[in-house]
Amino acid sequence: MKNTATQPKILIVDDTPTNVVLLATPLSKDYNVLSATSGEMALDLVARERPDLILLDIMMPGMDGYEVCRRLKDNEATKNIPIIFVTAKTTAADETYGFDLGAVDYITKPFHIPVVKARVRNHINLKTKTDLLEEIAHIDGLTNIPNRRRFDEMLEIEWSRALRNESPLSLIIADIDYFKEYNDHYGHAGGDQCLYSVALALSSLMHRSSDMVARYGGEEFVAILPGTDLNGAATLAEYWRSVIEAMQMPHAKSGVSDYVTISVGYASLIPARDQLPYILLGVADEMLYQAKDNGRNRICGKQMENATCGACQI
Ligand code: GH3
Ligand code: MG
Ligand code: MG
Repeated sequence: MKNTATQPKILIVDDTPTNVVLLATPLSKDYNVLSATSGEMALDLVARERPDLILLDIMMPGMDGYEVCRRLKDNEATKNIPIIFVTAKTTAADETYGFDLGAVDYITKPFHIPVVKARVRNHINLKTKTDLLEEIAHIDGLTNIPNRRRFDEMLEIEWSRALRNESPLSLIIADIDYFKEYNDHYGHAGGDQCLYSVALALSSLMHRSSDMVARYGGEEFVAILPGTDLNGAATLAEYWRSVIEAMQMPHAKSGVSDYVTISVGYASLIPARDQLPYILLGVADEMLYQAKDNGRNRICGKQMENATCGACQI
């Protein structure tokens, strides 16, 4: 029995059901095929199902294929889904217009199934490779958690969302204490193993799907906490600190403990129009350095805007 969950998903959009069947039947052996008979229905299905490829008819009553394509390309979440126009419009001007809207290919009716299958296969292969590259570009190679690039992108997205919703946004930044000494004593491979263990522990402490932990660089880890105020960030920061300490990973050269520890800075605010996301990161980083100055293996945080500094705590 075929496993549709692992097959690439193709959405066929055509207002004529017989056309849908003509295309769906030969493709359904290799793909998980979905169908829509109007532009509106197509947009709804794309939002819910995120297909890997769309075969899109142009002439449809109501919203036509051009408009469907335009809307999908205008949306950050759907703009990378490849669209192939399948249409009876055959002039060079029609075809050019379709490509200008962002389509990857153009198939004219009446279509020849072997040609359609070959083109679909090529575009699905390309999409699979692009998705993989995209994923690799956002994952840290050592720890397998999101990297700084991903963090920067998510910070922009969550900042805009918090600005729109007038909701709080918090950041946490943690840094391993005396990690240079750890590396010097246990070797670079030992240091790498430690980074991997810390990354795994910190990322497994996140419970909300909107929260994200990333490796910011070297031995620094960051978290974005949408909808979380200073108190919530303080709770998580202390949780991070205590969990790493409780793992009791030996650190013979630490100046603060017999085990690996982290210092944690955090900051919170409700974004305002005249601010940029990086001021929040800057303040969380200042708090991290304050935690280091205060003796390491501790947390320190600050509420922004009204400039009330949270007490530094052990
Ligand atoms: P502090 O307590 O003030 O944080 O001091 P520290 O020694 O942890 O900080 P410092 O910034 O001086 O040293 C960070 C060290 O992290 C130095 C660098 O060799 C090590 N490091 C950075 N990236 C990696 C990595 O990918 N693997 C390993 N093994 N070590 C790394
Ligand atoms: Mg350090
Ligand atoms: Mg550091």
